[in-house]
Amino acid sequence: MKIGFIGLGNMGAPMAANLAKDGHDVTGFDLAAPMPEGVSKADTAAAAATGRDVVITMLPNGAILRAVAEEVIPAMQKGAVLCDCSTVDVDSARAVAEQAEAAGLGALDAPVSGGVGGATAGTLTFMVGGGEDAFNTVKPLFDIMGQKAVHCGASGAGQAAKICNNMILGVTMIATCEAFALADKLGLDRQKMFDVVSTSSGYSWSMNAYCPAPGVGPQSPADNDYQPGFAAELMLKDLRLSQQAAESADADTPMGQMAKALYEQFVENEGGKGMDFSAMLPRFEKRGRG
Ligand code: NAD
Repeated sequence: MKIGFIGLGNMGAPMAANLAKDGHDVTGFDLAAPMPEGVSKADTAAAAATGRDVVITMLPNGAILRAVAEEVIPAMQKGAVLCDCSTVDVDSARAVAEQAEAAGLGALDAPVSGGVGGATAGTLTFMVGGGEDAFNTVKPLFDIMGQKAVHCGASGAGQAAKICNNMILGVTMIATCEAFALADKLGLDRQKMFDVVSTSSGYSWSMNAYCPAPGVGPQSPADNDYQPGFAAELMLKDLRLSQQAAESADADTPMGQMAKALYEQFVENEGGKGMDFSAMLPRFEKRGRG
């Protein structure tokens, strides 16, 4: 397939490289990042989109996505698919899809989970919103870049799935960390705490697969001085998106709101920026109730 790839940062570069490695013809554009191996360079986003069957974007946020879409949609050939893999707000995802469809294009929102490791290994999970035909066109590319693509529904459904999942993740990580800190103060050994909770009703991915306590459970960023992993500021981005969506849909999400406030405090005032999101444990460890 002829693919345009716009946004070749930490995630986009390895994703585009995997498509090129598989034999696809990939043309890339980024404001700053160098082209990954096998990807030819275009001078503008519009040039990267011209004559392509599929245009993939992997950009920082919804405002940038809207600006890039404005530029590439008129350049794309009818019947081509614009597939955004960035994590953005649901409203931007829907607005861009509407604009693309009005121009005779297919449109997908297809945010990912799996991080830079998954992007490099080609094991991402894609959560996809948009039409069936567009999904079927891009599915072979999802299969190269990832291990699973779930078609979640109409435009915006992919972003909705992503932020709901990550809201659960943020809340359960905080709950796991505060419980470890309480257990410490009660004199409970962390290994015993893990042995019980990981096989009891308090278990979760945060506890069982990504334990925030160093030396306990499987290997995780806690065992590497909380180097990310999944950085606290990226968790904050997703929690902000979940609250923005909750606001616009009038959904009551008190735990998500609290998680957003805690990660905000951690990232902006407590040195959490650049740390893994599980570094909430040392944060709680140092504190009392006051
Ligand atoms: P990044 O900052 O490394 O990459 C973004 C790239 O977009 C940069 O290279 C930047 O130069 C480029 N860019 C910005 N504006 C542009 C424009 N107008 N035209 C062309 N290029 C432009 O970010 P990333 O870590 O690759 O993340 C990309 C997206 O994926 C984000 O939405 C993020 O939330 C999401 N995501 C990231 C991770 C992760 O672990 N890094 C995991 C899941 C999802």
